[in-house]
Amino acid sequence: MESIRGRMTIWYATALIVSLAVFAVVLYFARRSATYQDLDRRIQSEADLTAGILAESYHARGLLVRKDTTGKPVLISEVAAVLEVVPDYLLVTSRDGQLLFGSPDARSLGFAHFEQLTALASSPGGLSGPKRFQMPSGPTLDYVVRSVPEAGGQIGIILAGADTRSAELQVEQLVTTIVIAFLVGVVPAVLVGRWIAGQALEPVDSMITEIREITDGRSLHRRLPVPMEKDELGRLAATLNQMWTRLERSFAALRRFTADASHELKTPLTVVRAGVERAITRPDMPPETLATLEETLQEVNRMTELLDSLLTLARADEGRAELHREPVDLRDIIEEAGETGELLAEHAGVGIDIKLPPDPLVVTVDRSRVRQLALNLIENAVKYTPRGGQVSVELGTNDGRAVFTVADTGIGIAAGDLPHIFDRFWRADSARTRTSERAGTGLGLAICKWIAEAHGGTIDVQSRPGRGTTFTVGLPRA
Ligand code: ADP
Repeated sequence: MESIRGRMTIWYATALIVSLAVFAVVLYFARRSATYQDLDRRIQSEADLTAGILAESYHARGLLVRKDTTGKPVLISEVAAVLEVVPDYLLVTSRDGQLLFGSPDARSLGFAHFEQLTALASSPGGLSGPKRFQMPSGPTLDYVVRSVPEAGGQIGIILAGADTRSAELQVEQLVTTIVIAFLVGVVPAVLVGRWIAGQALEPVDSMITEIREITDGRSLHRRLPVPMEKDELGRLAATLNQMWTRLERSFAALRRFTADASHELKTPLTVVRAGVERAITRPDMPPETLATLEETLQEVNRMTELLDSLLTLARADEGRAELHREPVDLRDIIEEAGETGELLAEHAGVGIDIKLPPDPLVVTVDRSRVRQLALNLIENAVKYTPRGGQVSVELGTNDGRAVFTVADTGIGIAAGDLPHIFDRFWRADSARTRTSERAGTGLGLAICKWIAEAHGGTIDVQSRPGRGTTFTVGLPRA
């Protein structure tokens, strides 16, 4: 589960379901035992009630038993009529175990089951509290058996019993109710829980959005709004803000240092260059010293280039690299860069082909920066294309944007390297290992990217090792 909200909802739902389930189980067993106790109490009081009726009748009439037409002993009809209304199973036997009375429910049991019931009434070990009896292929009963000493010895025992199905039914109803309540209750409760978790975490979500905006690198000066309450989120926001303050300071110090150092180094380097240039022109210079001086001059030029690039990037980071925008025809810029490219290409033995549109393509940009961008890409294309290869530069429009591409048939860039080529000081190993052949600083593309983005444009690269590379720059026309 990706989000804390999702996890909280799952924990909450699990806790809710477990506690509801425990509650339901406890309720089920408590209700079940109470229902059976109710049933047992009912049969006990039915037996007591019958005993009371018989005792009273004995006191009023003396005789409780008569013979019916077949000569079998039965309860006198006045008493039988009163007992007729007693529900459930009720049997009354004589002292010698003969059945005197059976209640309507008992009589409706069917012959076999009625026989089993009467057998219970005459079984030894009667006179007891509630017992349970499962009739083979019949109902299960709870029953009590009691004697009636107050009836003048005419009555043997009374058996009062009830079908446990009535209790089971009640318990079943309870289970149905619990299941329905569970389904109806849990779903809304989980939804509400999810909503509450969402509410609680909402500030975290908005904090994440703001942090993302701040950490894109250019917004380190921004801070999170610190809520009034000093709760966990308030403290987190304050701590993050402190961290950004420190980060911002050290970034600023780093940029300052880079800018100052490059700036300070430029002047002595200019002096060195002037000195070397002057020395080279002296006619009496021995050839070995001349070669050394030329090498020194090359390195000094490279260092000057590096310092310029560093200074540009440091200023850009500080937001101090201003763009002097003016409407220019991009064809002029590409043409100028292309001319330099042609010289380089000729020297490197690489063909170059420049395609410009017939109509002016006017954009409002910083002329020198865009020239630097185009030149950097063309120089790279020539630099990383072996003798005999081809470089094509093309200017056009696409989707209302000015687009220029610099494609070469050179060494290409490995797929794993592509994400890094715009990083500062990054150079592919193949470029590094042949430094003398392909001298560079590793800052060119970082600057190209900055120039494109500072103009609201984009720079993309496509490359296949050994086949060549295509850089595409898009600039907004407005
Ligand atoms: P560098 O000064 O090394 O050329 P860049 O920033 O201009 O620095 O380029 C960074 C790296 O990207 C280069 O070192 C090279 O490995 C790779 N690269 C740039 N352009 C090309 C290209 N046209 N073909 C192949 N690799 C290139």
